[in-house]
Amino acid sequence: MGKPVKVSKRDLEYLANALKEKKPYTEMARHLKICVDTVKRILQREGLAEFEGAKYVVALSNTKNTKYWNRPCMKCKGTKSRPKWQYFCVKCKEINEQYSGLPSEWLWDD
Ligand SMILES: [Zn+2]
Repeated sequence: MGKPVKVSKRDLEYLANALKEKKPYTEMARHLKICVDTVKRILQREGLAEFEGAKYVVALSNTKNTKYWNRPCMKCKGTKSRPKWQYFCVKCKEINEQYSGLPSEWLWDD
């Protein structure tokens, strides 16, 4: 788990079509011989579909109801509270952004 899955253009076309036909994710997964979670990730990554979790993240960053957590910063382990889903403290985030940041797929690489 966790390795970004390479999908061909053909696979993406299949997925786009399958979505239009409202095929179940389980069927897409079977067709591409990958797991359902991976299908969802690909759809999300390619902007073909949005899922609850991701919407939630976006919504949170734009609302004053932002929740906070004390999860240790992934870099310095600092536990100063920061908006939920922000994995780096403000300081590390800034440093990170200065140095080109994380690959766009990092969120999905668990
Ligand atoms: Zn930090």
